[in-house]
Amino acid sequence: MYGKIYTNLLAWGIKVMNDMYKEDIEARWQLLVWRTVIAICGVTFALSWILYGVHRVEKNIGSGLYMLEYIFIPMAIQIITLVVCYFMIKADNISNEKKNYVVIGLIFVSIGVISFTYYSVLPLIMLPILTIVATALFADQSLTIWSGVVVAILTVIDMVRYHFEYTDSVAGLNWVGVLSIFLLLIILLCVMVVIVNTHTKALMSSIMGSYNRQVTLMSELMIDPMTGLYNRRSFEDSLEKEIERAEQTGAKSYVTIFDIDHFKEVNDTYGHSNGDIVIKALCKMMKEKSKDMGLAFRYGGEEFVILFHDVELSKVMNIVEDIRTEFRCYYFHFMNKDGITCSCGVAEYIKGESSKAWFNRADSALYKAKESGRNRTVISAVSYTHLRAHET
Ligand code: GH3
Ligand code: MG
Ligand code: MG
Repeated sequence: MYGKIYTNLLAWGIKVMNDMYKEDIEARWQLLVWRTVIAICGVTFALSWILYGVHRVEKNIGSGLYMLEYIFIPMAIQIITLVVCYFMIKADNISNEKKNYVVIGLIFVSIGVISFTYYSVLPLIMLPILTIVATALFADQSLTIWSGVVVAILTVIDMVRYHFEYTDSVAGLNWVGVLSIFLLLIILLCVMVVIVNTHTKALMSSIMGSYNRQVTLMSELMIDPMTGLYNRRSFEDSLEKEIERAEQTGAKSYVTIFDIDHFKEVNDTYGHSNGDIVIKALCKMMKEKSKDMGLAFRYGGEEFVILFHDVELSKVMNIVEDIRTEFRCYYFHFMNKDGITCSCGVAEYIKGESSKAWFNRADSALYKAKESGRNRTVISAVSYTHLRAHET
């Protein structure tokens, strides 16, 4: 009972972790940046129209050329960049790392267009802040440094351009001083983002570490280390789920229990470690032969179960008999007499019955197989009018 709650809790925890970290976080950030740029472009577009209205009234500007220069050309560049960027971030053949560069490049272009259209200080300050800070989303140091370098180069170009284009209005300005302050701020911003990146990376690797530990713990809880089959705990969970499925779909499900005959004698004669070899051989056969039709479990020491889902009885019997006969003929190097046999009990799920009742029917069929001489398979009598035994 508690084991089941614990397993379910862990499964839930792992699902949450999966949702958060297995899904492509970077892809989500890329789309987020892309959408943010759309919003920025939308606002700029609206502002362009307002400015157009104001300018037309105030300065009586010729509308055609003004609209082309201040509205249509910038918007066309923005839209083309956004569309190209969208297809690039959705493309399968481009690595995530490159896509990160693409979206940061998108910010450069969109703010750059605004900056060039309406030459003002605000976009000039926004460019380094938005691009460098946005690189923190991807925790990629080289992306941050590259953005810093590009921003620094653009700032220098902008300053030189300003210096030559607006000589009268800014006469006497200490260019070297202003440029140094700008560059210093860009470097400081880069350093801060690099520190944030380092922190994010450490956090991510610790989260991934604990995620991996939980996955290992989960598999340890579900799998029998000696045989690699699912253990009894997962069998109980699977049996309940199988009943739910069978009730919903009406598909045929079977529980088949295998038990090695006179296994105690095998241990007593050939030793416990050779006994282990026998168990492993049977489990390997069960796993391989049932893999397309059902799941194999180690129920107890030398008792194993295959849970078949949506299979006809004839198919189940083929597999069960195949395992039983192959096991009987299996050659163990330490043995000097006949092979080892096993017995099997089969029970089909009857609508409405409990997991316990279903399993008990398979168990009584197994008991009957033992009682009637071992080395045989017995099908539960409840679902079939006559008890059927297979012996070879
Ligand atoms: P039956 O034909 O009625 O099934 O007889 P049996 O001797 O197989 O049944 P019994 O329940 O008397 O003995 C089962 C033995 O299986 C006892 C136990 O020591 C042994 N066993 C259980 N788990 C392991 C294991 O992991 N390795 C080995 N080597 N032996 C095991
Ligand atoms: Mg046995
Ligand atoms: Mg037994």
